Amino acid sequence: MIPAAEQILSDLISLNTVNPPGNEFKVARYLQELFASQGIDHEIIEAEAGRANFIARLGSGAKRLLFLSHADVVPAGDGWDFDPFSGKIDEKMVYGRGALDCKGLMAAQVYAILRLAREAPSLNGTLLFAATADEERGGACGVQYLLKNCPEKISADFVVNEGGEGPRTLNGRQIYFVQVGEKGTAWNRLQAAGHSCHGSVPTMGDNAVLKMSRALVALDAYRPKINLIPEVRFLLQELIRIKGLQEPLTERSVDSLLNKFTDRGFAETLRAMTRMTVSPNSIAGGSKTNIVPDECMADVDIRILPGQDRDYVFSELQRCIGKDIAIEIRNYAPPTFSSSQLAPYKLIAEVTQELAGKDTLCLPHISPGATDSRYLREAGIPSYGIGHMAKGSDPELGATIHGKNERIDIASLYFRADFFLALARRYLC
Ligand SMILES: [Zn+2]
Repeated sequence: MIPAAEQILSDLISLNTVNPPGNEFKVARYLQELFASQGIDHEIIEAEAGRANFIARLGSGAKRLLFLSHADVVPAGDGWDFDPFSGKIDEKMVYGRGALDCKGLMAAQVYAILRLAREAPSLNGTLLFAATADEERGGACGVQYLLKNCPEKISADFVVNEGGEGPRTLNGRQIYFVQVGEKGTAWNRLQAAGHSCHGSVPTMGDNAVLKMSRALVALDAYRPKINLIPEVRFLLQELIRIKGLQEPLTERSVDSLLNKFTDRGFAETLRAMTRMTVSPNSIAGGSKTNIVPDECMADVDIRILPGQDRDYVFSELQRCIGKDIAIEIRNYAPPTFSSSQLAPYKLIAEVTQELAGKDTLCLPHISPGATDSRYLREAGIPSYGIGHMAKGSDPELGATIHGKNERIDIASLYFRADFFLALARRYLC
């Protein structure tokens, strides 16, 4: 007997894998029992005590497809209307932390693989499944560890992972999305130096807080160059067409076109796909009302598009705020990208559309944030993200990711399972 997908998800939610500390071994052991009961080849690879990765294989052969999801979750926090770790199921929903990010995806992948194993078609290749640790805190014990120590175990022709936007309805047309890239991170610390003196004679000194203030005002006025990479250009053109907007899309018109989208969250996510974003998010300087400060620092969150790099960030910052402020890029992760022109993307889009119906559309996008796909892409493995939900699923559910009352409707869980099943059959049967 194969457990129901909602039961698998409920079981996974009830295994508390809040990271830190993670304790993903709980999920790995659960999966071990499940896969062993179905006679599916599998193993557990532990990066550290408790930080386990689970890998399973179905079939053999040169063609390799990897289904990836992560076993850790972010802390629940307060204010939930139900126990975040009970894994409650009712007739429509499964409730709890991880229901969407990412145990819902994992349950769908697991259910699809169990079904495929049961139907026992002889696969023309290898279907790989990896439930990895530590995604929510950078993946050092998870995907990064596997790529470093046993890359052959997860190397594949392509990967399907989390990271896609949830489907949306625009002018009555249902649109599904496939993530093809992720913006990079360039977190900066800016430092202004001055001279201290008594606050009663401030002209004796050189006020570092004022220097930094001028730099931040300049950053606020900075307008990053609009850069429409082909996938984003195509995405926006299609959305504009469906919305019935007449103005043609150009680098100049993109903002006024996006302003016509009524869903603000969606519009701002789209805007972030068209440029580098710069957000000064914390500042510290000065110690006392009567002392002119000689130091002020600000931390700036910068996210860059595929095609941009740390040198670009540094030169843009320096051009904007001048050489008087020290710039230090403290945390850099490059953007990553897998083309929508590759066969795997086309297959994912085709399978999505076949399942969702002819009147739906499937479009590529890039994410403002990052997932484990970045490491796989850097290792040369094309990676695509999905956040598919069933038709009629409440679009507000997406807002519960990393928030309160996280849950997924059971119909979406099976829609995803059907997607993974169909994809595996199309690629490997
Ligand atoms: Zn996630």
